[in-house]
Amino acid sequence: DELISQIAAGEVVERPASVVRELVDNALDAGASQIQVKLMAGGVRAIVVEDDGLGIPAEELPLALKRHATSKIRSLEELESVATMGFRGEALAAISSVAEMSVASRFAGAAHAHRLDARSGELVPAARSRGTSVEVRELFFSTPARRKFLKTDATELAHCLESVRRHALARPDVGFTVWHEGKLVEQWRAGSSEARLADVLGDEFMAESRPVYAENGPLRIYGRAGLPEAARSRADMQYVYVNGRYVRDKLIAHGIRSAYEDVLHGHRQPCYVLFIEIAPDRVDVNVHPTKIEVRFRDGREVHQRVRYAVQDALATSRS
Ligand code: ADP
Ligand code: MG
Repeated sequence: DELISQIAAGEVVERPASVVRELVDNALDAGASQIQVKLMAGGVRAIVVEDDGLGIPAEELPLALKRHATSKIRSLEELESVATMGFRGEALAAISSVAEMSVASRFAGAAHAHRLDARSGELVPAARSRGTSVEVRELFFSTPARRKFLKTDATELAHCLESVRRHALARPDVGFTVWHEGKLVEQWRAGSSEARLADVLGDEFMAESRPVYAENGPLRIYGRAGLPEAARSRADMQYVYVNGRYVRDKLIAHGIRSAYEDVLHGHRQPCYVLFIEIAPDRVDVNVHPTKIEVRFRDGREVHQRVRYAVQDALATSRS
């Protein structure tokens, strides 16, 4: 069972940034309005994510760390089939199998908080206001081979920041702060979507991009498209969300790319942030720990609408 946990963890937890992604995801699910991410040594030494969400009742803390599907997975084949179905209820269990973890939480209305140590299973009273703090220490401490694959602290920190950024762009209503080695490295206050884009992507991106907006029946596309002169050599500023979820999707990327085809040459990469809202019955979202696949009922239509929406945004800028 320990082995299977660790194999499953390999799917969910590649590096500190994967832990950050999952913990921030949970904080958002819990309805947090403020999320703090505190990192030590690029997240390898420690990752602490604190939220002011609903919290977890003391008696449910042990459950939160249990893998929901434990009894169902007996072989690698079964593990694979679980992987394609998505890893709901796997994240905390997976993380606790490859790191030291403790969860402190105070449920709405509870007299005080409780802290659960994942390894010892010890549950003790703790002090904190409503919400949850998850602390993850010494990632891959028991699997030196995996730990060896981690890059420098600076690189791991950059990946952690990117994880927070992806969440932050989609949730301007939530405040985020990120600390590294006790120093505040990012602070994004809750506010409008415009303000969040400017905070996260910078004033330069705002100046060199144009608003995208298109609405067609059950499909709404909005965000910002970078002008051709803002293009980069790396695809490091391309964000696409489908119904609030960050995705990497070839069809959408191609739709955007084709909007730029007459204005962008060579290997230059456009910058963009696009939010696609579509009626849930027109899209299948398949959540895999590391990649998020979407299948649209009418892919051609989405492709075209995305292309036109971006083309329109770029054309406006030249008139
Ligand atoms: P999932 O998010 O898919 O349910 P996780 O392993 O990420 O699985 O979390 C397990 C459970 O622990 C969640 O379903 C939730 O009930 C609880 N939980 C985890 N993190 C938090 C949090 N920050 N606030 C409140 N509840 C949480
Ligand atoms: Mg989760």
